[in-house]
Amino acid sequence: MTNHLRHLPAVHQLKNHKHFSQILHNAFISEDVLTEWVNEQIDIVRNRLIKNELHIKDINREKLVDYIFQLLEKKIEQMQENQLRQVINATGVVLHTNLGRARLSKQAIDHMTETALSYSTLEYNVKTGERGSRHDIVEDYIKQLTGAEAAMVVNNNAAAVFLVLKAIASGREVIVSRGELVEIGGSFRISEIMEESQAVLKEVGTTNKTHIGDYENAINENTALLMKVHKSNFKILGFTKDAATDDLVRISKQHHIPIYEDLGSGTLFDFQKRQIGSEPTVQEKVRTGIDIISFSGDKLLGGPQAGVIVGKKNYIEKIKKHQLARVLRVDKFTLAGLEATLKSYIRNQEHQEIPTIRDILQSSETILEKANNFIRELSSKNAKFICHIEQEKSKVGGGTMPEVELDTYVVNVKHESFSSNEMAVKLRNNTIPVIVRVKNESVILDFRTVTWEELEMIIEAFLRF
Ligand SMILES: *Cc1c(COP(=O)(O)O)cnc(C)c1O
Repeated sequence: MTNHLRHLPAVHQLKNHKHFSQILHNAFISEDVLTEWVNEQIDIVRNRLIKNELHIKDINREKLVDYIFQLLEKKIEQMQENQLRQVINATGVVLHTNLGRARLSKQAIDHMTETALSYSTLEYNVKTGERGSRHDIVEDYIKQLTGAEAAMVVNNNAAAVFLVLKAIASGREVIVSRGELVEIGGSFRISEIMEESQAVLKEVGTTNKTHIGDYENAINENTALLMKVHKSNFKILGFTKDAATDDLVRISKQHHIPIYEDLGSGTLFDFQKRQIGSEPTVQEKVRTGIDIISFSGDKLLGGPQAGVIVGKKNYIEKIKKHQLARVLRVDKFTLAGLEATLKSYIRNQEHQEIPTIRDILQSSETILEKANNFIRELSSKNAKFICHIEQEKSKVGGGTMPEVELDTYVVNVKHESFSSNEMAVKLRNNTIPVIVRVKNESVILDFRTVTWEELEMIIEAFLRF
């Protein structure tokens, strides 16, 4: 087969081809780049010829030229597509980590756009005409909402944990229960962050039981911090005991050692009041007297990626002054998104405006209405899909409230001739990919995370099968 190699065209031959100048004219690509891509496609075809993997009958020069141009056009198409693309999340998992966690409120997006398009008061005080601090932009809102004395924001909660440890406990000991040495999302380990911060981890208790006395016994003159970590997506069932926060706060005061809690998700909205989960709010946590608390901006808060640190003024000031605070600072878009998100809470409109809160609270009746609409519309246009509604549960996701199961109705879709995996692939390859769950021979659609607008787009995706 390798004698077909003699038919392989050279770069200059392809560049002289009228197809090359046509592409150059239409595709807004420089000649250099296009030449490089032509070379790349020639290499691909050469390799396929050598490995005998090119299934073209009666190979000749002309057929190879056509084939290379086909590959080239595909490459151009791919390069024109964004790498970060919109998808439709029909899994019902509200904080889907792989799909970007929280989607933002209209208010947040508008404020981010406005901030991006203009100059802004990022570090400028218009009243005095002097330099201002970016920390001041959201601090008052966070203080008002959480009741904390002071607050600051960094890049994400992992950065918050790192910065707190670095600023408060570097070179000294931090006491943590063995039951709380968790790994989150496969890349965040408390023990490793601790090591990076040069704080010394002092583990106490056992995986399932840690008593207040375990903390007390571990305290010595080199102890800098008592730390509690939210277990997030990890839960030990059965014979367990955690030291009560009140007891920890008491011994922290007795020994004059600050206590820090990594709350993970951290919610300002009281989901418990709506019979969803048992997550204490940040404001409840602040009231217990914990000195420093950190949580994510893009989990239950429903805002942009950020790490919020709240607590006693003296500690927050110390953290703000640390050199790393500059390294881990957030940009103006994050601050804009966060400001608008926090203002929804201040106006008591979070359940209407913030998609994360809205979708978690969404009633199963609303979801059923969407499901019925979907089936009605799809089956009126194409009889090859076999759909029915099932009662199911949706998850919050993002390692948050793992035990919570939200009542939902899903649509179970089968196709006369396509398997469930074939359907999932087709949906994923839609111009706007639709992400679904696959269960046996069906794909499962949970419309908790799908807007009415997106519902229409999903129907169109099915009709393109
Ligand atoms: C999610 C989580 C983190 C990491 O927060 P990011 O905002 O993703 O950096 C840290 N600690 C806990 C307990 C978490 O649940």
